[in-house]
Amino acid sequence: MAAMDLVADQRQISTEEKTQINQQVKAELIEHLYRGCLPGTVSGIPVGIAIFIDFYHHTPNALLFPWFIAYNLALIALTVLYFVYLKFKNQYSLSAWLGAYSVVMSVCALMWATCVFLIPDNITRQYFAFIALFLIATGYATGTIGQFRLCLMTLSIIVVPLVIWCFLKGTIFYNLVGSFSLIYIGFMVSINHRSTQWFKDSLKLKLENTLVSYQANHDLLTDLPNQRLLPQFIDSAIHAVKDTDNTFALTCFSLNRMEMIDDSLGHQAGNAIIQAVAGRLRTFVSDVAELGNTTRYILTISRKDTFNILLVPLKITEAEEKIRHLFSVLDDPIYLEQQGVKITASVGASLYGKDGGDAQALLINADAAMFRAKQFGGNHLEFYRAEINAEMPKQLELETDLHAAIENNQLQVYYQPLVDLRTGQISGMEALLRWPHPVHGFISPMNFIPLAEETGLIIPIGEWVMREACMQTKKWHEMGFNSLRVAVNLAEKQLRQESLVKTIEKILEQTGLDSKFLELELTETAILDETVVYLLKEFKRMDLSLAVDDFGTGYSGLSYLKRFAIDKLKIDQSFIRDIPGNNDSITIVSAIIAMAKELNVNTLAEGVETIEQLQFLKTKGCDYIQGYYFSKPLDVKMFTELLQERRSLTLN
Ligand code: C2E
Ligand code: MG
Ligand code: MG
Repeated sequence: MAAMDLVADQRQISTEEKTQINQQVKAELIEHLYRGCLPGTVSGIPVGIAIFIDFYHHTPNALLFPWFIAYNLALIALTVLYFVYLKFKNQYSLSAWLGAYSVVMSVCALMWATCVFLIPDNITRQYFAFIALFLIATGYATGTIGQFRLCLMTLSIIVVPLVIWCFLKGTIFYNLVGSFSLIYIGFMVSINHRSTQWFKDSLKLKLENTLVSYQANHDLLTDLPNQRLLPQFIDSAIHAVKDTDNTFALTCFSLNRMEMIDDSLGHQAGNAIIQAVAGRLRTFVSDVAELGNTTRYILTISRKDTFNILLVPLKITEAEEKIRHLFSVLDDPIYLEQQGVKITASVGASLYGKDGGDAQALLINADAAMFRAKQFGGNHLEFYRAEINAEMPKQLELETDLHAAIENNQLQVYYQPLVDLRTGQISGMEALLRWPHPVHGFISPMNFIPLAEETGLIIPIGEWVMREACMQTKKWHEMGFNSLRVAVNLAEKQLRQESLVKTIEKILEQTGLDSKFLELELTETAILDETVVYLLKEFKRMDLSLAVDDFGTGYSGLSYLKRFAIDKLKIDQSFIRDIPGNNDSITIVSAIIAMAKELNVNTLAEGVETIEQLQFLKTKGCDYIQGYYFSKPLDVKMFTELLQERRSLTLN
């Protein structure tokens, strides 16, 4: 990816990252410096050789030549030695390097200061000596780019003795050469200064670009490769399985209810959970690799709460088992300051070859499967099927219709009686939503409630149901049926609403219904979620009744029954349905009723359809029943008639 594209990402670099970059600039400078000193040292070599030749062709002039040679050899030796030392020690400290360089230069200064006074009287050889020195000076001045102070020090050491020598000679010619040397120092210093700035800036830019490019390809929160890298991974997976019997799977592993967690516990908690899941997935992936599994799991993240995991290579027959294996990372709750949060994921999967031949098709299809999986809730895996796409437009159509239904007041509330088994009287009713669709007829809440939850429409719908139910119950109270209690279902999304308590208070106030006549039905999973603890306490404070809906289908943790003062357990109809034929159901229902009695919690059996079921429940001491045996859900008019008939069960 071109650097410009990445910079165009406009990501901000934090102060911490800036410090990191500066440290890296320092480290790179050291590398650069000891490579940079080479020009200085190398420039000494031809000079040394030239002097050596001169030494043979002319009368040996004082000690100048041996000095020159010794000087250059010493420089080379010291630099090389230090080079080796740093490499072995892996010492990347700038001060260590500068210290060593200063030693080298001090030796150089000593030698040079001596040899400058040995410069011969022969004018040609003087020129030659000057040029040689300027060459070495230029070599070091360019070699020290990146460290301005070093350049200053080096140039002074090399050229200043020459300047002093020139001025000491005192003639016009030497004064001119001395002045020129000073100008030369200034010139080289300013070049070094500018280049140092440029060098540091470009180094910084390079590092920033590397960082930005990393950030652009990785998720900031989890540090996992993001969706920019995913197509590349998919392409290499395609390459790996192309001419083999194997395929690979692309999964879309999306955490459920993260929005709710963000709303109720705050974004930080939400982020901590995503980080924790990312950490667990990472461990899972490396454990699988260590165990020598033939399938490699490649982990990436595409949206905030959605991971994309590639399973390469794979046999179609083992796909399901291997993908399901991923759910194991969510087995244990995630703890946030000792508070356990149970997380589930909706997983969609597409298989290379069967569901698409390129990255784009596989991604779209895995996504579609994931959205389908979301509709089931809990840990659910859905493989892509062609019908999923066909179902999508229907969903869209339904969504549009649902909006219209709300606007046109098409939704209705039906009421199903809840019967007290001890008295045989109607003790209350459950408010159940009905949608008479102009084209499709009555649409079951089972079909449109998940859609309403997904789109957020459940909030206004839920509020409307509650207002209707309270208003109607108040009317029935006024008609003399003044002990009726109405039960209203609360969707999980409603529980995330900050204003829920206020909304309920307002509805009760507006309708004039006493709060003790309102019962809230929550699912087991909703109650188990630690995030609603506060809400449940508020409900109790308001004197509302709490019922656990579809009891027995969720988790089996029961401690919450006492902790939140639950009033009623509604035993799920799946257990009642098989009674009296199924011994397991009989055992489970008997156990639930017995346990609830111990805890002083009422029980209600849902979906009672036969006299046998009723009799069984009665002998077990179940408190309430709800079901077609007594009555289906009814509209207001029919429910009023039912009440007026004051029909009661004949219990025997
Ligand atoms: P639920 O709260 O468990 O409601 C009981 C469901 O069992 C109702 O289905 C009811 O019609 C059905 N039922 C009652 N007696 C019998 C019986 O004897 N046999 C059989 N087979 N079924 C019986 P319904 O009305 O289709 O509602 C389905 C689910 O939709 C409800 O289950 C509830 O979870 C949800 N729901 C309904 N209305 C609302 C609402 O206003 N808000 C929310 N959030 N959810 C709602
Ligand atoms: Mg219910
Ligand atoms: Mg139920």
